[in-house]
Amino acid sequence: MKRKKTLAFRISCLALCLCAVAPRFATVVSDAAGSTSEIQALEQQIEQIKRDQAEYEKKLDELKASSDSALQIKSSYEKEIQLIEQKISSTQTLIEQYDGLIAETITAIDGKSAEIDQRFEEFLDRLRISYEDGFANYLVLILNSGSLTDLLMNTERTADILAYDRALMDSLEADKGNLEAGKKELEDNRAAQQKYKQDLENDKAELDAKRSGLNTYIQSLEADAAKYEQLQEEAIKADEELNARLEAALAALNDNEMVQHPVSGGALIWPVSTAYKVISSPFGNRTVNGRPNFHYGVDIPAPAGSNVYASQSGVVVYAEWHYSYGNYVVINHGGGYTTLYAHNTSLAVSAGQTVEQGQVIAYVGQTGSAYGNHCHFEVRFNGAVQNPMNYLTQP
Ligand SMILES: [Zn+2]
Repeated sequence: MKRKKTLAFRISCLALCLCAVAPRFATVVSDAAGSTSEIQALEQQIEQIKRDQAEYEKKLDELKASSDSALQIKSSYEKEIQLIEQKISSTQTLIEQYDGLIAETITAIDGKSAEIDQRFEEFLDRLRISYEDGFANYLVLILNSGSLTDLLMNTERTADILAYDRALMDSLEADKGNLEAGKKELEDNRAAQQKYKQDLENDKAELDAKRSGLNTYIQSLEADAAKYEQLQEEAIKADEELNARLEAALAALNDNEMVQHPVSGGALIWPVSTAYKVISSPFGNRTVNGRPNFHYGVDIPAPAGSNVYASQSGVVVYAEWHYSYGNYVVINHGGGYTTLYAHNTSLAVSAGQTVEQGQVIAYVGQTGSAYGNHCHFEVRFNGAVQNPMNYLTQP
């Protein structure tokens, strides 16, 4: 009897040990709760983008029907393309979140499987050592069970199984059940990930369609001289409107507290790769549609998507979209000086950010009132435009 008590004690210890070290799967999954709330936030963000996009779609249809504003039509296309790009980026982040969650779940399941295998082996070892003649049938049963599942099925049919064995079996069975629940959750996550991957592909197809729609629209403008002229008129008005706004806002900028970076005496670097050295439109007076017009900066043509560099270190004042300047950036260099980079396809910085000279701040494009990829570069002193060529050295 003494021997049996010892065995019972050992197995009780084993069962206790199992309960103590085997966390339930739900606990493991709740470790990823941070990711879950991020996923919810991302899903809401994507829904909001979809609503905004539907609004621009409607606006675009209205504009097309009235066809009284060529620039507004172009800018509506651009705004929508930008929203789709945001949607793609949010969906990509969502997929990464799911990937992270799945990786965590797989690690948890692997850990749990290894633990159950180890406990089961220890349990069998103890039985092999401790059971003798009277329990021969039981031992044969154990040793002939190829897996935990077999053993559980076989023990169901064994009437004389000891109570403490049953408790241990239950514990193992519960662990196995939790493991199965975890696997189910993993499968659900995988299905959700598949769905978002499909959404992402749809977004990309939508983006391509919108881009080709925009190109078709621009081509139709070029073919229609009257409309093209109208577009130029609108663009001039829009430029004047933004210029007035920038003049006032940048003149009021208080930069006493910030580090001053030199702008004069050749301190500025060329804002795109020096491989692109041609200036297609200089600073100052020019003629558009036979009418005098003032150009606030210099235009440097470069391929779409090529880097736009911070001409000097400083702090980003604006990184936003305007229907005339498209995606543009303004950097404050201190001492009253700012530089501006317009018509970018997309931006790499945000307002308030500190940037180093030569840092990529945007990518060349033709957003806003631009037809042809180029960087529109301005230098301003106390808000007023300066000739950039007095500060830049053309490569
Ligand atoms: Zn320009």
